[in-house]
Amino acid sequence: MHWKTVLVTGGAGFLGSHLCDALLQRGSRVIAVDNLSTGRLKNIAHLSKESMFSFEEHDICEPFDYGAVDFVFNMASPASPPGYMKLGVETLRVGSVGTEQTLQIARRYQAGYLHASTSECYGDPKEHPQTEEYWGNVNPIGPRSVYDEAKRFSEAMVMAYHRYYKVNTHLVRIFNTYGPRLDPKDGRVISNLIMQALAGEDLTIYGDGSQTRSFCYVSDLIAGILALAETSEATPVNIGNPDEFTILSAAEIVKELTGSKSKIGFAPLPEDDPKQRQPDISKAGRLFGWKPKVALREGLGLTIPYFQQIEL
Ligand code: NAD
Ligand code: UDP
Repeated sequence: MHWKTVLVTGGAGFLGSHLCDALLQRGSRVIAVDNLSTGRLKNIAHLSKESMFSFEEHDICEPFDYGAVDFVFNMASPASPPGYMKLGVETLRVGSVGTEQTLQIARRYQAGYLHASTSECYGDPKEHPQTEEYWGNVNPIGPRSVYDEAKRFSEAMVMAYHRYYKVNTHLVRIFNTYGPRLDPKDGRVISNLIMQALAGEDLTIYGDGSQTRSFCYVSDLIAGILALAETSEATPVNIGNPDEFTILSAAEIVKELTGSKSKIGFAPLPEDDPKQRQPDISKAGRLFGWKPKVALREGLGLTIPYFQQIEL
């Protein structure tokens, strides 16, 4: 499918910037909108001379319209736990008000629409692995609720625009994704571990490190999102890598791959930190034949050099 003009909100972020690259490669004109609250201009600096790319610094909670588009990818939202806890109200607003602004654009121009939702919709899951049918176990008033409930609300809003206004919408539930352009300072586990390992500092494990996550490399994630966007599927689809690791074992792999002499250190587990997380990806396989290709060791091998060369 060819989209002539595409809007990417959160386009200066980690995933948004990789999505812009992929869309430009497919020949689309890309308009990236970002308020730079957690994103960084350096993520899109390489696109500054690209005639098919434009950047608008704007908060999507405020009305905007940069002209007709064929597709809207709504990636804007703080995404790291320290990031969204610092920007709690902003996170709730971008998931609600901001998401509706982007849906209005899709409706106005009869454009396709994809919203970046999250495995956090499942909260601290009591079903494992998580299928899209699971309704989740979320604390609605806990410190993570500014993110979890924003994303759950945004899913309801997207489904409402689909049901009431017949917008061709898609919901992707993204599981922990990593790769180059992760913000070294936003506190997510892979970037923290790599930065600490390269600096020879203790690797910080929150709790005893027995909690699990399943880490997806960014190119797999982008391929999954683009494949979903080409379907007519409106209900949520998990995209993530089902290979599950304890955080302690992930730290040991980072230590080994960086050749670091860092020690493992322990710090308190944040409140409501999910104990386990693993996507069931059979729906994505069934609908559009997607599965991840890049295993964790290989993906870390592609990510570590990025952190070795960045200037802080
Ligand atoms: P990121 O912080 O790197 O990117 C998010 C971008 O959104 C940033 O550039 C930020 O400045 C922008 N933004 C935030 N609020 C905005 C607003 N009001 N108006 C305009 N721009 C705004 O995070 P990311 O990892 O690239 O995440 C992208 C999306 O994917 C987010 O919606 C996130 O919730 C979702 N997601 C990511 C992961 C992951 O593992 N990376 C997992 C699940 C869901
Ligand atoms: N974590 C950790 N050390 C860190 C950062 C995170 O042990 O320096 C843990 C965190 O408590 C969680 C997991 O790693 O159990 C993944 O954290 P992240 O913030 O990357 O994403 P989450 O899946 O919690 O949104």
